Parts: sequence; C-alpha cells; structure tokens
Amino acid sequence: MTEKTDVTEQTSGSREERFQHWYLGSLGPHLRPVLAIALLASVLAMFVHALLFPAEIWLGSLFFIGGFISVPLLLALVGTQVQISRQHVTNFSTAICLSALFGVNGVLAWSYSHSYDMPYEGVLAITVCIGMFSTLPLRRVLPITILGSLMFAGVKVQYSMDPALIILVQVFFVLFFSAISCLIAYLVQQFFRSEYRRQQALRQLSETDPLTDLLNRRGFETRYGLANRSALRNGKMLGLILVDVDHFKAFNDNYGHDAGDNALVAIAEVLEQYARRPFDACARLGGEEFCLLLHDLDMKALQNIGQAVCHAVAHLKIPHAHSSAGRVLTVSMGITGISPGTPFQSAYRTADRALYEAKDKGRNRWVWLSNDSKSGAGVKAAQ
Ligand code: GH3
Ligand code: MG
Ligand code: MG
Repeated sequence: MTEKTDVTEQTSGSREERFQHWYLGSLGPHLRPVLAIALLASVLAMFVHALLFPAEIWLGSLFFIGGFISVPLLLALVGTQVQISRQHVTNFSTAICLSALFGVNGVLAWSYSHSYDMPYEGVLAITVCIGMFSTLPLRRVLPITILGSLMFAGVKVQYSMDPALIILVQVFFVLFFSAISCLIAYLVQQFFRSEYRRQQALRQLSETDPLTDLLNRRGFETRYGLANRSALRNGKMLGLILVDVDHFKAFNDNYGHDAGDNALVAIAEVLEQYARRPFDACARLGGEEFCLLLHDLDMKALQNIGQAVCHAVAHLKIPHAHSSAGRVLTVSMGITGISPGTPFQSAYRTADRALYEAKDKGRNRWVWLSNDSKSGAGVKAAQ
C-alpha cells in the first residue's frame, strides 16, 4: 500500500498526524521488499513442514500458514500498487499481524490436537517481526502481541500435552518476546521521530529568511505549489501580491543599513497580518521585495488588501526624506489573480509587470493586472 499524497504535502493536522503521515510515507517504498521476504518465508515454512511432518500435519500448515499468512501477505504485496490512505495502511498492517498470529497459533493447535508436538518458535519469530517490520506504533504492537500471547496460552492449555510448568515457561517466553517486540517498535518510532524533527528543522532553515523570519523564495515556491494543487482540487482562485519598497536604496544610503534592516522587519510584520489562513503565504523573495499569496479571494478583495497594505506601511511612519513617493517609507504593489494550475513563474511575471506599472505611475500604490492581461489596470494611491 502506498500513501495517497506525497510525504512533503501534509501541512495540516496535528504535529503527531504530520509525523505519522511522513513516517508511513518514508517507509512506504521499503514495505514491498519486506512483504516479499515475509511471503517467501511463509511459503518456505510450508515447504519445510511438508518435508518434516506427516501429511495430516502438513495439511494443517497449508491451511493455517497459507490461508492466514501467505494469502494476506500476497494481498498486501498486490496492495502496494494501490494508493490508500494512511489510516488504512495502519489498519491493514494490524489485520495482517493479527492474521499471522492466528495462523501460526492455528498450526500449533492443529498439530497438538493431532498429538504432534510442533515447536513454537514460529510464534516468537512472528511476534518479533511485528515490532520490527510492521511499521505499527507501540500502541498497536502492544495489544496485538498481548493478544498473540493469550492465543498461544489458550492453544497450549487447550491442546498441548505438556506439563503445566513447561506451558508456563513457554508462555513466559512468548510474553518476553512480545516485550522485545514492543521495545523494538518503540525504538524504531523514536528513531524516526528524531529523524523527522531533524528534517523539519533543516527544511525550516532552508525555507526561511533569517532577517524577517518569513518564508524565503524557495519556501514560497513550495507553498505556492501546495496552494495551487489545492486550488486545482477546489476550483478556487489564488491571488498574488508582489510588494516592493520604494526608493529603498536611497533609504539605505541615507539612514544606514541597520535602519534598512529594521524597516524590512517592520514591513514584514505588517505583511504577515494579511496571510493568516492555511494556504496563504507571505515571503521575502529577496532584497526589499516581498510577496503575498492569498487563497480564494476575488479581484475586489485582493485590491482591498493591496490598498490596506499601502496604508498600513505608510502608517508605520518610517521617515524617508529622499523618496519621491512621500515623506515616509512606502511600498508599491503588483496584484494579480491566478487561475488554478498557473505555474509560479507565469503568475510572478504578471504581478511583476503590474508592479513595474505601479512604480512607473509614481509608486506608493498598487496596480491590478489579470493573468491573461485582458482586464485593465486599476490604480489607487494610498495617501
Ligand atoms: P524602487 O523604488 O524603484 O524599487 O527603487 P529601490 O531603490 O527600492 O530599488 P533598488 O533595486 O535600486 O535598490 C534596492 C536596495 O535594497 C538595494 C540594497 O541596498 C537594498 N537591500 C537589499 N537587501 C537588503 C537587506 O537585506 N538589508 C538592507 N538594509 N538593504 C537591502
Ligand atoms: Mg524598491
Ligand atoms: Mg526591488
């Protein structure tokens, strides 16, 4: 079974849900060889039983191992071609583990009831494999292996001729291996949890602008891709607002680089306020250029936001005596609406043309341009 969505795609849900999504997505590709080996082992077990045990015992093996272990494994192997959700992967793995434990205990019950003393190592092997290879979390492995141990105890008490002490020792061993299985499941998940945290931290670092803590261009393009896919699914429009600080070189030259940095941080804080919903994004694309991606807003709403941003930045009242656009630091904006599926470069080009026009018309304003360039440009000064 493979995951329905790419491992990098899950941005919603709790932290635990995102981890589980990533975890199964990461393990998915390795599941197929594990299933193939397990299937081979189960077929080999039936073959060995055919060589070692009398026909009537082997028939029990064929039924229980074949029916409850090999067939589910084969189905799972075929299922790796089918895309199913994470929850189903977990439930399916749980079902296979329970079925395998039932199968191996079934073989034992069958052989004991035919007065044949079959060794019980198969139960131990399967119990440990559940913790090692099932990809299930501890909270699943624990009840599964306890259930397997209880099944084994039941089979022993019901069908075995062994003295009580031997049965007790054997049940203890199965419980001991169950504990080992749980420990392995726990350690495997802990390992993947720390790997996940490390990857998240690295990703965060590579997608964040260190000065403003906004997304950088790489992060923004990733978010654009996700929002675009969501827009395609829902048939919603996206809006792109390209923001450029007016006469920022003159600001830097006259007030110093540190004052420039502080101004960029202040503007970033203003812009962030407008990108609060899950698929919205706000980034510093580079230098004094910022970008807002807004989900499911019509032209009027986008233009209103453009207008509000103009006012809000001017309201910071950062003095700029060397600007032709006003006495304070201001921004110009290019705004465009994006139909679902539009590549980032294309949307960016349109917004950039609109921005260029806003600069051309005197700065401290926004210009709207539709992505197909058909609708006319609107211009409104902020002050
Ligand atoms: P326009 O109104 O046409 O946009 O002119 P401008 O001066 O804003 O644009 P220009 O591209 O000529 O200059 C951008 C300046 O932004 C140049 C550089 O000094 C400044 N800048 C770029 N990155 C940073 C930064 O991280 N910190 C600071 N303080 N300044 C930066
Ligand atoms: Mg500028
Ligand atoms: Mg610029």
